[in-house]
Amino acid sequence: MRFKFVEDGEVCPCGTSGKKFKKCCKRSSSPYSFDKVGTALFEQGRHAAATECYRHAISLNPGIPEIYHKLGIVYQAQGNFRAAAKFQRRAVKMRPEVASAHNNLGISLVALGEYQLAAESFQTALSLQPDHERASNHLGGVMVMQGRYQEALVLYRGILAQQPDNSEVCNRIGDLLGKLGQEEEARVYLRQSINLFLAGKVQWKQQETAMPVKMGYEVLLSAKKRLDAAGIPFFLSLGTLLGVIRDGDLLPFDKDLDIGTLWETGRPEVVAALTGDGVFACPRWSSESGSDSAWRLCFHHTTKQISLDVFFYKPDGDYFLAGLDHLPEPIVSRPQKFDIGTIDWQGEAWPVPADCERYLSDYYGSEWRVPDKYFDTVISSKCQVPSTRSARMVYGYTRLHGLLASRRLGKLASICEQVLALDPDDEFIVGLRDLALREEGSAAAGSE
Ligand SMILES: [Zn+2]
Repeated sequence: MRFKFVEDGEVCPCGTSGKKFKKCCKRSSSPYSFDKVGTALFEQGRHAAATECYRHAISLNPGIPEIYHKLGIVYQAQGNFRAAAKFQRRAVKMRPEVASAHNNLGISLVALGEYQLAAESFQTALSLQPDHERASNHLGGVMVMQGRYQEALVLYRGILAQQPDNSEVCNRIGDLLGKLGQEEEARVYLRQSINLFLAGKVQWKQQETAMPVKMGYEVLLSAKKRLDAAGIPFFLSLGTLLGVIRDGDLLPFDKDLDIGTLWETGRPEVVAALTGDGVFACPRWSSESGSDSAWRLCFHHTTKQISLDVFFYKPDGDYFLAGLDHLPEPIVSRPQKFDIGTIDWQGEAWPVPADCERYLSDYYGSEWRVPDKYFDTVISSKCQVPSTRSARMVYGYTRLHGLLASRRLGKLASICEQVLALDPDDEFIVGLRDLALREEGSAAAGSE
């Protein structure tokens, strides 16, 4: 066997002998030697080398389920969920009584857009080990993606009863209650989740995450090709349009891609065009709850792991209505009606609202050219329908815990401000904003 990824002269990664690889594990005929080397390589972040080692271990003895399991985890870390699922399925088949093997398989299946099978894997993990916390969180996550809110609520309430200090679960319950239109109760849980979080030991280290812009472009282009081929009209919208028009590129701090289409466009046709070859998945559509009057469909690119939202614009006199499905009524905005024009961007003709600048100032205000990287359209749209105000406020509340938990203090302070614009008297939000500003200030001072 020739190894491409471990040099003969390198000290053997197994770390036990101190000898060179060629005089240590390379000579071994035991799969466990290569298992050990593979694990060491994985810990060093050498994923391709780890894969090679585990595969060699399997060739020496194809009967060790743990090695399939570990190989699956390396493929997951590389973002190759198809290969991961293949080996995780074998691990599960060989040892069906191991809960974490079902849980890991479920994670790959979600990434591949196999939501129903994923839910079944998490359920199996839980039936084997009822206190498997990650499996129940993943199961709840899939249920939410599929629109199975009531079932997810039952699941999370069960966990919270066992772990009353679990701020993450408390937050998820609040989020679900908001989605179900129970806004007062939602706010109680969302505040409680923040209080629980702050009651723990908090390290105020800041982080930022963003969508890789180049990958975002590739995802957008692959959606365009599929929609064009199916003859489905669409246009760049919201943050995606803002980035292209203002900066000539996608916004680096955006978390997903947005396009719009007309209300009469058939949802099943959009789903078929995008998901037909497995490149995109549509979580809600894969369950029973897919609806032909959805205001928005969320798609998920199954290899690049980037989301694409498709909004359906419904004519309303001289305006359009567009937004998010929500109970008891959708959270919609009301931009002025427009025709679809095109612009040239990176050598492609892209459909856009014909009067882009008017569209952008409808949503972002006349100051749309001034970057405000934390502006959240759902909370702060300048053309929001007034009756959606309290649902927007609760939506803003649902963002807070995640921002706090990932220490994104600048954004947290901004989202608090945006919620306060809807309800200036909310003392809880005032307190949280002040805390975020204070901690952000002291973190900045500490880093100088
Ligand atoms: Zn060795």
